[in-house]
Amino acid sequence: MSTKRLLGVFAHPDDEGTMSGALLQYSALGVETGLVCATRGEVGEIADPALATPENLGQVREGEMRAAAEVLGVHNLWFLDYRDSGMAGTPENAHPHAFAQVQAAEAVGKLVAIIRQFRPQVLVTFDETGGYGHPDHIAIYRHTTSAFHAAADGVQYPELGPAHSVAKLYYTAFPRSAVQAMGEWMQSQEYEGSFSGLDPEKLGIPDELVSVWLNVEQWQTTKDRSWAMHRTQMDPNNFMAQLPPEVLRKWRSRECYQLAASRVGPDVPDENDLFAHI
Ligand SMILES: [Zn+2]
Repeated sequence: MSTKRLLGVFAHPDDEGTMSGALLQYSALGVETGLVCATRGEVGEIADPALATPENLGQVREGEMRAAAEVLGVHNLWFLDYRDSGMAGTPENAHPHAFAQVQAAEAVGKLVAIIRQFRPQVLVTFDETGGYGHPDHIAIYRHTTSAFHAAADGVQYPELGPAHSVAKLYYTAFPRSAVQAMGEWMQSQEYEGSFSGLDPEKLGIPDELVSVWLNVEQWQTTKDRSWAMHRTQMDPNNFMAQLPPEVLRKWRSRECYQLAASRVGPDVPDENDLFAHI
């Protein structure tokens, strides 16, 4: 096993797209990578009814997630076996197994067990907005942040193995400058789509809070290939699918991360390395 390990923790199959370039880049550098998926995205869209039914969507998306992980060179994949809570305000939110309803102590325990087993130095998850406010994204942000602290504390969950101190916790970030550029582009095109009602001023985080700007241009093709494995989610009417390839390419050629907690000191500007000081 490699001495360096990177763990991404997300809510649904396809959420890992937010850090797929990092997974490829660090894997190429010999870092062992892993992904946790809290749910199987059971209540997501079905782009093509030939691919899945609402009854078997979770099973189909698990297969898609495994295929995407394979493309990304991720050999460690865990499902927490919770149920997709659906978009905010939908009846799916109230399902007894919905991830957003789960007791924190239980979900954190599952994550602590994985962290103590895999022993990553770097942990990545969504920020407190969950990217765009999906209840499961916000839940995974909360539980992963708690697990970062709990895994290092031998008094908590002593039955789950020896304590492990993850060196750094990062949140995937949308820098406001990029969101604004996207907003300007949409305006110039008079784009009327699902994102047109959102206020670019309220999306993303101020650029100065981004601690790692990762240039993942060289991984574009592989990123796209892993993304395409989520076939049930490839709705041609989706906002991203409608963007011209050059706009999409620019958007995807860079990944941004916010350092949320560190046991090895702060990141230094222009270092742009999730494993700096490790
Ligand atoms: Zn998601």
